[in-house]
Amino acid sequence: MNYIKDNLEKINTSIPEDVTLVAVSKTKPIADLQEAYDAGQRIFGENKIQEMVTKFDSLPKDIQWHMIGHLQSNKVKYMAHFVDLIHGVDKFKTLKEINKQAKKHDRVINCLLQARIAKEETKFGLPFEEITAILKSEEIQNLTNVKIVGFMGMATFTDDETILNEEFSSLKAFFDHHKSQYPAIEILSMGMSGDYQLAIKNGSTMIRVGSSIFGARNYLT
Ligand SMILES: *Cc1c(COP(=O)(O)O)cnc(C)c1O
Repeated sequence: MNYIKDNLEKINTSIPEDVTLVAVSKTKPIADLQEAYDAGQRIFGENKIQEMVTKFDSLPKDIQWHMIGHLQSNKVKYMAHFVDLIHGVDKFKTLKEINKQAKKHDRVINCLLQARIAKEETKFGLPFEEITAILKSEEIQNLTNVKIVGFMGMATFTDDETILNEEFSSLKAFFDHHKSQYPAIEILSMGMSGDYQLAIKNGSTMIRVGSSIFGARNYLT
């Protein structure tokens, strides 16, 4: 019993105070989120908009909801009134849609651009040059209801620390470079259950941890 609370305590005492912990609660029942909430956790990450909306509706309103999954533009409208941070933006078109929906609610929605850092084949994330191009573009100035506050990256799924270090440190260098030019950029979201210690060593400011808090996910039930 209370293993969620214990796990949260273990992680919180092992990470630096200035690193933000996002509790990734995808697929987990409301009761598990409530347990984490009761233990003091206030930031939750989900990867499906519909699931996040359902959980938002049934849980306390001081929770900050982070969308960490790949985005479908046509569903952005369902979370625009409450989402706190969107991690996985990897298309300019998605930024435009977020801007449009945020405007309807008179909000500015914080976004992270997802960088493609993994060596393995992946469909998701933008090459560094494309991120730089978006930040420099004139169009971005017109999107007054989105604010790009940093970058997100997912490393290769491997135990090889050399590869992980390489991937994390390349994103950190890219982050530092842009941070010095754009005052709004302050968040570097990298690190999951298997690699967050290494991500923090490489300068992560925000980790997204699921199974180490809530236990393994069972996609069959
Ligand atoms: C599921 C997920 C996580 C958390 O994964 P764990 O290995 O369970 O910690 C982190 N980031 C993203 C983008 C995810 O989809």
